[in-house]
Amino acid sequence: MLIVSEQTCQEVIGRADAFTAVENVFGAMAKGDAYNFPVIREAIGYADALYGFKSGFDKAGKALGVKSGGYWPGNMDKGLTNHQSTIFLFDPDTGQLAALVGGNYLTAVRTAASSSVSIAHLARKDSKVLGMVGAGHQAQFQLRAAVEQRDFEKVVAWNFHPDMLPKLGAVAADLGLPFEAVEREQLGAEADVIISITSAHDALMMRDWIKPGTHIACMGTDTKGKQEVDPALVAAATVFTDEVAQSISIGETQHAIAAGLIAESAITPIGAVINGDHPGRRSDDEITLFDGTGVGLQDLAVASVAAKLAEAQGKAQVVAL
Ligand code: NAD
Repeated sequence: MLIVSEQTCQEVIGRADAFTAVENVFGAMAKGDAYNFPVIREAIGYADALYGFKSGFDKAGKALGVKSGGYWPGNMDKGLTNHQSTIFLFDPDTGQLAALVGGNYLTAVRTAASSSVSIAHLARKDSKVLGMVGAGHQAQFQLRAAVEQRDFEKVVAWNFHPDMLPKLGAVAADLGLPFEAVEREQLGAEADVIISITSAHDALMMRDWIKPGTHIACMGTDTKGKQEVDPALVAAATVFTDEVAQSISIGETQHAIAAGLIAESAITPIGAVINGDHPGRRSDDEITLFDGTGVGLQDLAVASVAAKLAEAQGKAQVVAL
């Protein structure tokens, strides 16, 4: 059995590995070769924490396991990130524990890979301005991954807590991109690609603010009750997701579905685009929306790659079962 620490994950797995792993597993999900088990997520009534499990099996990639963890809002004051998780991988042939892999860094890179895969497959090729709604822990990873997909010339950003924006601006500067803090309406007017990655519970981006041809990746809404965009925007867009079942229950489309503005059948798994079974964007005027809800299979996919690379590089701790 392998133990792969957070530090080792950071050393062995980069954005390109995560992109490939996530793209492959989304494709496998759409083919029916991989599926997620029902998610468990509970408020435990202690430390204001949300705790749960995301699990699944990818027959194609031979990844079986579970990510266990959640959200501890008081962690920031302790110098820790609020999201804490660990991934357990099992041998699909025997059921034996195969690896324990730190899940914090991997959650950030797999989530960034998810929006990045959506940009690669759905954004207009001539996209120049990237709009960031959100400036928390995940936003920095999102920004770094997104700029690898198109020749962006500028980043515009808005955050509920404006004091968090300079940190995101520093990432843009590191990437050699001009960065401007703007109001939300201006962000919509300027951006060709928008990533929303907040813990909002109300619509932050309205239908009328979004230009034709925009691609928007809604990444923050991963729980019932959360919301980042106007349901009318969801209704106006061609909608893609990682997993339809999660999208309509805990993802961004939950509100448009509840309001009767869209039907479940109008939501396409992005894996269908990856597999060449759906054309994706059909015109330069179309608004495309990716509802990235975050599935357990993404975690298992990147953790499997991390475990293999760590073992090959002699960086995994090997423990007898
Ligand atoms: P964080 O705590 O570091 O940052 C939270 C962000 O939300 C900040 O930008 C903050 O200003 C903003 N925010 C807080 N309250 C808000 C409000 N009322 N209205 C608008 N914005 C508000 O968190 P993080 O780790 O960056 O995660 C951001 C979100 O992404 C969370 O909701 C988290 O659950 C979600 N997430 C999704 C996935 C996925 O796979 N889809 C993966 C990881 C995290």
